[in-house]
Amino acid sequence: MIVVLMSCSVYAQDIDAWRRQATNNPEQLLKDTQAQLQTLSNQRDYQQLALLFAVRSEAYRSLGNESAAAKAIKEGLRFAELSNAPRAQALLYINRSLYFLQRGLQSKAASSAQLAVDAATSSGDSELLAEAKLSVAQVMSQLGDIEGALTTLEAVEREQEINSAKLKMEFHALIGDVYLSAGADDMGISHLAQALEIAKQSMGRWERSVLHYNLGKAYRETGQPEKAQKHFTTAQQLSEQLNDQLGIAYAVNAMGELALQQDFYAQALAQFRQALPFFQAAAAHPMEATTRLNIVECLLGMGQLEAAGETLSATESLIKTLDQVDQSARLAKLWSAFYQKKGNFEDALRHYQDYAQMQQQLLSNNSNRRVQEIMVRLEIKDQEARNKLLNQENQLNQLRLKEQQTSLLLALIAVIAVVLSIIIVSYILWKQIQSRKRFAELALRDELTGAPNRRAVIRACSNALEQQQATISIAIIDFDYFKDINDKYGHDVGDNVLRAFARIVEQCIRDNDRYGRLGGEEWLLLLPNAGAQHAEGIFERIQTRLNQVSIEGLPESVKITFSMGFAMAKAGETFNELYKRTDELLYDAKAQGRSRLIISSSTTATSN
Ligand code: GH3
Ligand code: MG
Ligand code: MG
Repeated sequence: MIVVLMSCSVYAQDIDAWRRQATNNPEQLLKDTQAQLQTLSNQRDYQQLALLFAVRSEAYRSLGNESAAAKAIKEGLRFAELSNAPRAQALLYINRSLYFLQRGLQSKAASSAQLAVDAATSSGDSELLAEAKLSVAQVMSQLGDIEGALTTLEAVEREQEINSAKLKMEFHALIGDVYLSAGADDMGISHLAQALEIAKQSMGRWERSVLHYNLGKAYRETGQPEKAQKHFTTAQQLSEQLNDQLGIAYAVNAMGELALQQDFYAQALAQFRQALPFFQAAAAHPMEATTRLNIVECLLGMGQLEAAGETLSATESLIKTLDQVDQSARLAKLWSAFYQKKGNFEDALRHYQDYAQMQQQLLSNNSNRRVQEIMVRLEIKDQEARNKLLNQENQLNQLRLKEQQTSLLLALIAVIAVVLSIIIVSYILWKQIQSRKRFAELALRDELTGAPNRRAVIRACSNALEQQQATISIAIIDFDYFKDINDKYGHDVGDNVLRAFARIVEQCIRDNDRYGRLGGEEWLLLLPNAGAQHAEGIFERIQTRLNQVSIEGLPESVKITFSMGFAMAKAGETFNELYKRTDELLYDAKAQGRSRLIISSSTTATSN
């Protein structure tokens, strides 16, 4: 026996047989593959190991042993990662997606299904790819994304070959579920029945059990309780044959719901209490929440308000983790019924409002479903017409989207353009103002000394004379024997003297005084409200400072002197007249031996 098992490894063609056994006689499969696990791990054949774990995880699921299934998936993925095993990977991710769905972890289920598609794509196995895409569609359908699920199913039908019985069965089962959620009950039931037919002929007990359960639910929801009861009973029997406790729990809970519909509270309650521990053990949170709410409904029906309130509180925290609007809506509705029975109408109303709000949200989802219903019904009548319609709708949607995007983009571009041009224009204007300012400043500055130039100082004098707001006096200064300084120490040193002189004058005059370089080594001072005394003071101060500062290139011993003429403007005198008079005084100072100040005789001594 052992020898036979060792020689038989899991080759591609065996996989289907293994998988069938996993869902028909899972305990046997787990037993049969136990020895092989050992052999393969001794041989370090990780690829085969990964496949074997994939099959074993399916067997565990058939037994309702979710935690063992999860462990097998984890192991399998580990081995698949160690080897290049995209087939095994795809199978494992499909199983992981189912596992997450069971636990109410929809987004994880969605990403697993996508990983399954990726792995199946790289395996090049078209059937496997179809199976992976079906699991994507299944997650979408569970999330209430009917349109997405249908689109995916359609793509599978168009792009993949659906030959194997398993695929055909899964396809019909899923499309049946989707149609039922879309409100196309007859079509949904007929697809589920087709799936069940295929399962009866060539699939395992587990698939059959699931399909009986789903078909039972479809009959219950369309008001056919007898048919529903028959299917639930068969589902339970199959699960019992498999020893699948979770499957039994599903069937028992469903039959409890049937009893609840007919107000058989005690019977229903017993069934819910029987099922609940299995959902809890498998961490099947959505089913746990459903069953707990079923229990609440029974308790309310039996008038056991305290117990109902406690169960509601306990269930509320569970439902909060699930993020499923339908469960939350049902919870709110039951809270409302609870408070109503207690005579607390205020709280009853509050919860009813919550319920109504969530119900509205669900209805808005349903309106989308109505569109799908039309689509589904069209499919029955005319396949081609449906394709055309779908295409047109798609194109229309794309056009709308494009239009929206384009107009958004245009608006955005316009805003950006306006903002940009404002910024650019402002920047250019600012630059222009800055450079104009700089030019204006440059035009009035003496390049060598940085002092105001001839034009600046003469303009200041003329303005002051025109405004006649103060008595105006001016002084003209000319260095003595400056030519000799240049000759002896060089022109550069002469320049240094001029620069030093400008700085000194700036420090010696008052805030309202002005000065400027007339040219060469001649300077003009504008001194408003200045009398003879002030003129003498300035002359002394400048001369003293000039001998104090050290000038580069000029020996300390060399003393620079200058001569100065000073005159106060007479009433109505123009600048030229005043200048001429003052220049003559300067000439007098030179003539009288230089290094002196000559003040015009008409100057009053009283000015400050
Ligand atoms: P004085 O005024 O006492 O009669 O004698 P002076 O040697 O100063 O004679 P005058 O004022 O006529 O000559 C001015 C000299 O100043 C001529 C030139 O060598 C010098 N000078 C004029 N502009 C500059 C300048 O920008 N830099 C330098 N280093 N020297 C200048
Ligand atoms: Mg001169
Ligand atoms: Mg001179």
